[in-house]
Amino acid sequence: MLLTITTTLDQATDLGFLLHKHPDRVQRFEQSHGTAHVFYPDADERRCTAALLLDVDPIELVRTRGRGTPDFSLGQYVNDRPYAASSLLASAMSNVFRTAMRGRCDARPELAQTPIPLEIALPALPCKGGPGQAERFFAPLGWDVSAVPVPLDPEFGEWGDSRYVTLKLTGTLRLADALNQMYVLLPVLDDAKHYWMAPDEVDKLIRAGEGWLAAHPDRGAITRRYLANRRGLVRSALGRLADAEDAPEEELDPVQVEEEPAPVEDGEDQTPKDQPVSLAEHRLQAVVRALHDENAQRVIDLGCGTGKLLARLLKDGFFTEISGTDVSHRALSHAWRRLHWDDGPRRGDGRVRDVFQGALTYADDRFAGYEAAVLMEVVEHIDPPRLGAVERVVFGHAAPRVVIVTTPNAEHNVRYEGLAPGAMRHPDHRFEWTRAEFRAWADRVAAAHGYRVRHVPVGDDDPEVGAPTQMGVFTR
Ligand code: SAH
Repeated sequence: MLLTITTTLDQATDLGFLLHKHPDRVQRFEQSHGTAHVFYPDADERRCTAALLLDVDPIELVRTRGRGTPDFSLGQYVNDRPYAASSLLASAMSNVFRTAMRGRCDARPELAQTPIPLEIALPALPCKGGPGQAERFFAPLGWDVSAVPVPLDPEFGEWGDSRYVTLKLTGTLRLADALNQMYVLLPVLDDAKHYWMAPDEVDKLIRAGEGWLAAHPDRGAITRRYLANRRGLVRSALGRLADAEDAPEEELDPVQVEEEPAPVEDGEDQTPKDQPVSLAEHRLQAVVRALHDENAQRVIDLGCGTGKLLARLLKDGFFTEISGTDVSHRALSHAWRRLHWDDGPRRGDGRVRDVFQGALTYADDRFAGYEAAVLMEVVEHIDPPRLGAVERVVFGHAAPRVVIVTTPNAEHNVRYEGLAPGAMRHPDHRFEWTRAEFRAWADRVAAAHGYRVRHVPVGDDDPEVGAPTQMGVFTR
């Protein structure tokens, strides 16, 4: 199995820094199913190619038989594993290029965050659904895709094509994104996991998919295939993706996420029909209801993300003045687009006052002057040492009559199949509180700043572990 990564970046050999593998050396890495080799067939200042070659040991594979290994006895020895890029290559990538996949590079930190010209080539990729499927999965990520079917036997054209393609991807992407996309999409295109589905499989998918999967038009199909159609896992992953803050406008309606039609190649990728209302939707409704209950018509959404709540408030004529702020320019650009903030007539009859970049850790007069402030799924993104600053800014300085805070209930995490014990729901979460921890925090903050607080469970209130989301409604 071979994967090559080429860049034509200025100082192309910087690829060695990004991959943490020296261009002058050939290196070996022992894997559970064979040996991975990394070497550079080409390395000069204008063009540099790194190759990952995985030499699979078929005997070792038989000993540790996983799902999808052919179980007739000859098939265990005669199969495509030694040369077809598949989940084995993906797992070797994650061992050999682990640091690069996290986007870390102390020698070239900026380069690691910068899109660079890349060409990725895989001579033999098992591709269920044919070349069109590879195009469908890779093109929306910004790749120019060339997927050419490999004939079954070049001597016998009439036999037709095999299920393999020669894949070449060309594009300008962050190296870490490119590697993570390969890591997820190679086994997805093969559609046969060759190893046991571990309980942390959903976490791996969410982590590797950060920044690109939530916004992918085929994220439903990708998730289902990656998780081998295990319904509980798929539902949990899709729920968490719908919660991810970086999905663009058209992707954000959680109901739409669930109803997305399955690809119809082989009837395996079925969307569950009995989807309940998503947690993100429960949360929006709960916040809007609390604002009504408190008769707060002028609202600022602090940490508004891509503006889901702002759009919802705008649909509701009860709200007369609506603003939002977030520290992330990327998230805000979605919010601006969603609210048509920059182009032409603004939505909502002038009820949107401002949608601006701001940091909740610094006192800012623009946060003040509203009846209510909402922090929906924001506090858990704040580093604990900075949380005190946020409390002072929101409850002390802006000090609206009503503050609504929602945050995950960590106790509920045991109900998420596929979430490893002790793991958090989102890679950017700095903490997740139990109900007692949230209450203790809320009581202390309320007492310090002259508020009262009532607690409202959001989502299915489990008798044992409570609701998935907890909400505190603070009033002065
Ligand atoms: N409230 C939105 C987004 C939640 S994600 C929703 O529920 O959909 C958390 C958001 O908090 C992110 O958009 C992040 O950029 C923002 N955030 C994190 N730290 C922040 C800070 N210090 N100041 C302002 N926004 C912050």
